[in-house]
This record gives sequence, structure tokens and C-alpha cells, in this order.
Amino acid sequence: MPRYFIWTIGCQMNKAESQRIAGYLDSAGYEAATSFADADIVVLNTCVIRQSAESKVLGTLGLLKGLKIKHTNLKILITGCFVDSDMEGLKRRFPHVDFLFRPGDFSELISWSHEQGVPFVQGASLPAAFSPCAFIPIIQGCDNFCSYCIVPYRRGREVSRPLGEIICEVKELAKRGIKEVTLLGQNVDSYGHNLPGHPDLADLLNELSSVDELARVRFLTNHPKDISLKLLESIASLNKVCEHLELPVQAGDDDILRAMRRGYTVERYRELVHTVRHKVPQISLSTDIIVGFPGETEEQFEHTLSLLEEMKFDVVHIAAYSPRAGTIAWREYRDDVPLEFKKERLNKVETLQSGISSQINSQLQGRQMEVLVEGSKKGKWFGRTRSDKLVFFEDNANRFGQLVQVKIGKTSPWALQGEVVDNGNSQNRT
Ligand code: SAM
Ligand code: SF4
Repeated sequence: MPRYFIWTIGCQMNKAESQRIAGYLDSAGYEAATSFADADIVVLNTCVIRQSAESKVLGTLGLLKGLKIKHTNLKILITGCFVDSDMEGLKRRFPHVDFLFRPGDFSELISWSHEQGVPFVQGASLPAAFSPCAFIPIIQGCDNFCSYCIVPYRRGREVSRPLGEIICEVKELAKRGIKEVTLLGQNVDSYGHNLPGHPDLADLLNELSSVDELARVRFLTNHPKDISLKLLESIASLNKVCEHLELPVQAGDDDILRAMRRGYTVERYRELVHTVRHKVPQISLSTDIIVGFPGETEEQFEHTLSLLEEMKFDVVHIAAYSPRAGTIAWREYRDDVPLEFKKERLNKVETLQSGISSQINSQLQGRQMEVLVEGSKKGKWFGRTRSDKLVFFEDNANRFGQLVQVKIGKTSPWALQGEVVDNGNSQNRT
């Protein structure tokens, strides 16, 4: 049986698309390999959000060049944000790559499979159920053009999937044992605006709440300038919708936010967080921060630290600014914050946030929380709470895929440890 290996880096969208590519390959009779060396087809699902990611892609392409000399029949496919509009240029630069397709463009992939005589089955792209959780892309692309970001140039403008198509897919997954879905988009708040009747994310959540076998629904990422009161009310009122929001602020200084073209001020963001916490008091909040954006002074960076101290997010994803060719910031600003300052700022945010997360998580000690068990590692089961906290616990019974009530004991900034109280299956909003 021919074998495939999919190498994935980057965001949840890439992970979701890799699951779908695996579905297609399975449908054509391929089986998963454990490494590049064992495979007949290799798919690289790539990311170029920062230079460090792009360098990994280039390194892996170099490695595969060597492998192809030994295994001349090896097919190399590449997708994800490394694939830009200059396909011919990429083919010339990487002649050992057999096929390139734009992120999410599965029709191209299917046509290629037909040309190769190993046709993938149309519609066979449902993620395989190795986990009780599935990622569902609901909107592709982004119309925002934040000045630093390459995504709109690589993933194109926003296109929403029809509501009915998403509901059918989720129903099918739920029948196969999926308990939790995460709806994905670069800006899920834009969902539906280009569809007939203009359904929005709140409408979609409402529909998905009536899928019987499904226990939980999540979504990411929200944009602070677009999130609606209607959506917050849905989170508050719909039992299956988890109390967790990914709400990237990026910086705590108005001049930097303007240069980033984010479309909100610090004050507007602050008001939004107050509204969110008022409407959904149990909400857990994550955010993204970029340090060392062009021109960021020490004082402007201090504003970001103050905002983090004030907002007390559950989780902060931190990145040092990386200039991306073709973006507005790359054209208009000099990358003038020295690397050592970027690293220092990154460390300061990490230190501050680990104290905040540690404090927030320590308050969960003694609480009973519902955990959806995703797997086991080093003899312990692990899963996530509705608030997206990672929980580990020991139990001799097979808990895979179950909703379990766990009493929290030890906590750290990154994870919680606990013990099973009962086998749950409850819908407790904790
Ligand atoms: N759509 C989301 C939003 O509005 O923030 C984020 C999507 S982006 C793929 C994920 C994160 O990568 C961003 O939140 C940002 O913090 C980071 N990022 C994007 N471009 C970057 C760059 N040029 N340098 C450093 N970090 C970057
Ligand atoms: Fe990039 Fe901004 Fe779109 Fe997020 S909203 S994907 S940061 S352009």
C-alpha cells in the first residue's frame, strides 16, 4: 500500500487543512507513514507568518531534495502560505517539488490526483476521528490587511462556507463520535457577510447547538473591531458554546495600533473586554502580542505591559515583529528595533504573563471542572476544560473521548492537574 507523510507547521487552519488532505489520501488507498523516509507522497503544509517559520520550510525543502535523489519516485506536494501567486517562479526555484496548490484549494489537489491516476474521492475530506475534537474552517482569507501581516496576500480575500454545508459536516462528524468542534477563520466575526441572507457566526452557533451528539462548540479568531453584542449574547445563552475567546490586541499603545492598522484604540479594546466580562462572567480570554514593531519605543512597550497587567488574560501568545516582504509595514517602515531589544521585550512579556496565568490558575484549585479527554501522555489522561485549560489526571479506566468531571489539585501557568470525580457527561458551565 502506498504511504503518505504530511508535515504541518503554523496555525490551526493549517492543521485543519492537513486533516482534510489526510482524508483525501486515505480515500485513494494511501496509508499514513511515520516519517519522510517511509513515504511515497510527502505533503508540506507551510507557514510564512514569520521568518523563523519560512526558514523551517526552506530547510525541509532542502532535506527533501536529498531524499528525492535516493527515492526518485517520491512525490513532493507543497501547500500553505509558502505558496504565493508566482507559481511558475516557485516551480523554477524548487524543481524537485511535483505539485503546488494554494491553501485550501482542494479542487486543484483533486484534479492533480486524477492526472496521477490515483483519484481522491470528492467529499472524502472529513477529518479522521483520531480525536474527539475537530477543526472546521468556516471562512477562508482575510480582508483586513493589518500592516505587518502576510496572510491576506497568501490566503486571499474572505470567502465564507455556506451555513448548510458546515451544519451537514458537523452532523456527520458528531455521528462519527466527534464531541467538540472549533470553527476556524482569520476573522470569524466576518463569517457570512458575503453569503445570501447574510447569516452570521451567532446564527451558525445557534444552528450547531441543536446537533444532538455534539457537546461543545468553540471558534477562533475574533477581531476586536468586529465582534458583536449578538455574538456575546450567544456565548452567554447557548449551553454548548464554550466560554473562551481569542481576542488579539497586538499592542497596548495607540500609535503602534494605528501603524499596525488594527482599527481600534486601547480604550475601545478595554471597553470591549469590560463588556465581554460583564456579559459572560466565566469567560477565559487569550490574546496575541507583537513586540518590537517598527518604531516601538521603550515607553510604548511599557504601555503594552500595563495593558497586560490590567486585562489579566488567561493566555498570551507573544511574537517578535518579523518583516514580511510585500506587506504595508515592510514597504513603509524600517525594522529598527534591534533584535536584542525584541528578545528582551519578549522575555518581559513572558515573565509578566506567567505570573498572571499562575495566579488565575491557582484560583481553580479545589474546583470541579468538565474535561473532554483528548488522549494520554506519559501515563496520564489529558484534555481541556470549556475555558480551554489543559488538564492532566490519572485513571485506570479508558477515558478517551469522554466528558469527565475533574477536581483540580496542582496548578501551573500552563496546565492543571486533578483527579476524576465521576464520569461526568454533564454540561456544567465551568
Ligand atoms: N487574525 C488574527 C488577528 O487578527 O490577530 C491573527 C492571525 S495571525 C495568522 C497570528 C498571529 O501572528 C498574529 O496575531 C500576530 O500576533 C502574529 N503575526 C502576524 N504577522 C506577524 C509578523 N509579521 N511578525 C510577528 N508576528 C506576526
Ligand atoms: Fe492578519 Fe490582521 Fe487578517 Fe489577522 S486580521 S489574519 S493579523 S491581516
